[in-house]
Amino acid sequence: MNIMVKKILIGIGIIAVLLAIAVGGFLYKFSAETGKMTPVVTGNVTAEIIAIKNDFANMYLIKDSTNYIAIDAGKDLTVIESELKKLNIDPLKVEAVMLTHSDMDHVAGLPLFKNAKLYMARNEVKMLNGEQQKIPGYNNSISRSDYILLDDLQTLEIGKVKIHCILTEGHTSGSMCFQVNEKYLFTGDILSLHEGKLGHSVEFFDLDHNKTTKSISKITNLPNVEYILTSHWGVSKDYKNAVNGWRE
Ligand SMILES: [Zn+2]
Repeated sequence: MNIMVKKILIGIGIIAVLLAIAVGGFLYKFSAETGKMTPVVTGNVTAEIIAIKNDFANMYLIKDSTNYIAIDAGKDLTVIESELKKLNIDPLKVEAVMLTHSDMDHVAGLPLFKNAKLYMARNEVKMLNGEQQKIPGYNNSISRSDYILLDDLQTLEIGKVKIHCILTEGHTSGSMCFQVNEKYLFTGDILSLHEGKLGHSVEFFDLDHNKTTKSISKITNLPNVEYILTSHWGVSKDYKNAVNGWRE
């Protein structure tokens, strides 16, 4: 074999091995971190809030008379579909989906909610158009482009439900918390919960971990909040205790 060809083949071999190590390392870390997560089982959290479990993630439904508002849309479409069936909930009765952010474990069930208006933070568009990327060369993507964009501290009313939007960037460029009917705070992926106390987000999954940590301070002093509902770490029914003693 020509020496030049040999050198090229060795070069390709080295690149392939390095790539395999990088991908293997990523997958190992991914499963180690998601394995620690503590989502709640599918069912009612309160009379008006329903959690849906999908592997290591939760999405939630808020009752609005006979309709529902979804917080996020799950990790696997088929799992969300079957969990809704068990609960006897028609996905066509979901009138709105509020995305805490656009990562793949929060948007997969979107095609089920055909009658829903879709809302997300204005800054989150950067994750979809490639302006911001967690993995170089990889954009977040969602199945729809007819979304309604939300700004920091905007309040909206959908049916009888009041939703206050708080931009908490860091995990993604447009991560947003939703304070619903004053007492429910949906936090997406910006924090964790350990024995009822607030903890940091998982750095491995953050676009900017320091920014995420700074953003947590925006939601630790909210009057009237009672519940914290996270996407991967369960629910706290005692907001005051959860945030008490939080330090960046
Ligand atoms: Zn997530």
